[in-house]
Amino acid sequence: MENKTYNVVVVGYGGMGSYHGQLIAPVPGIALTGVYDIVEYRMELARSQGFRTYGSYGEVLADESVDVVVIATPNDVHKDLAIQALQAGKHVVCEKPVTVTSAELLEIVQAAKEADRVFMVHQNRRWDEDFLMVKNLVENKKAGEVFHVESRVQGANGIPGDWRQLKAYGGGMLLDWGVHLLDQLLLLTDSEIETVTASLSTILGTEVDDGFTAHIRFKDGLTAVIEVGTTNFIKLPRWYVKGTEGTAVIYDWDLSGEIVTRNQAVAHVEPKPIQAGVGLTKTMAPPSEESTIREPFERVPSKTESFYENLVSVIEGKAQPLVRNEQVLRVLMLIEAIFEAAETRSVVHRTI
Ligand code: NAD
Repeated sequence: MENKTYNVVVVGYGGMGSYHGQLIAPVPGIALTGVYDIVEYRMELARSQGFRTYGSYGEVLADESVDVVVIATPNDVHKDLAIQALQAGKHVVCEKPVTVTSAELLEIVQAAKEADRVFMVHQNRRWDEDFLMVKNLVENKKAGEVFHVESRVQGANGIPGDWRQLKAYGGGMLLDWGVHLLDQLLLLTDSEIETVTASLSTILGTEVDDGFTAHIRFKDGLTAVIEVGTTNFIKLPRWYVKGTEGTAVIYDWDLSGEIVTRNQAVAHVEPKPIQAGVGLTKTMAPPSEESTIREPFERVPSKTESFYENLVSVIEGKAQPLVRNEQVLRVLMLIEAIFEAAETRSVVHRTI
């Protein structure tokens, strides 16, 4: 339908719900018109910002002027809210993690199919520039064939003191930041996963993980370490990537980093032994300056409104979704394998 503006209601007007307003505002053909939250002061805030508020979720679904429902509540209620909205004929955008289990996502996908409505998950960190820079490095083989990726986010502030600390709400860092890092990882390769080992961190004594380390091996030989920590007073680089011709690092959100590659124009230079501790080593000596090339990463600017632009096009049948439900399902299956590997302290062999 040409020149239509799709009306959006955000359900759950907390930290992320209110951010959706900012994401939608610059996109033509779609507008945030209303808000529903179970907490009154969040509704007052929405009214003060000029949005219509609703007395119940049923009222949102009964409002025929509402085309799209954005679900930004804690994770445990995503499934029920999404299915109800789809059955009421609304298109649905859902925050990550879409659901707590892969089986729940399959129920939503079935409901979307039956209602013939769009269901898209807000995997917004696909637009993070650090990730786009690494993706570009992998695709353009700037460090040769990439055979190992390490992706980490680490802080020292613990788990935020809200529902994220509680299992019943789908809390824990694997379901929180883990979803983003695993989603990004799966976009770096076409290969399937072969094995997973993992450990969860419970240093803070919460009933959910305050971080985790997962080792993932793909069928084509690519290996990955994915790590999230909330007890790291000193953090490791955001990305560390090894290719057959070099190594790349991105240190932090400021995108500082570099790519160091073998200088093909220079014949092999035998490294000079260095003093290391109480011994000498040639093996661990740094490569000579003349035998390597140091380069900055190529910047890959990202457009944050792409998600909602794409949603409008998908609703109108003009584009395929940038975030596909099959991709989101794979991430949830990987999360389940990570939980299983951590719990059983064993290698999980699973094609994902
Ligand atoms: P929050 O606690 O700040 O906000 C949640 C809001 O939902 C609260 O206002 C709460 O009152 C409301 N709520 C709870 N149950 C409800 C219900 N049944 N119906 C209506 N409203 C309800 O949490 P948050 O940090 O905004 O997280 C919300 C969701 O967004 C989570 O799924 C989270 O994982 C996701 N999130 C995504 C990103 C991202 O980068 N994509 C970032 C932060 C949070």
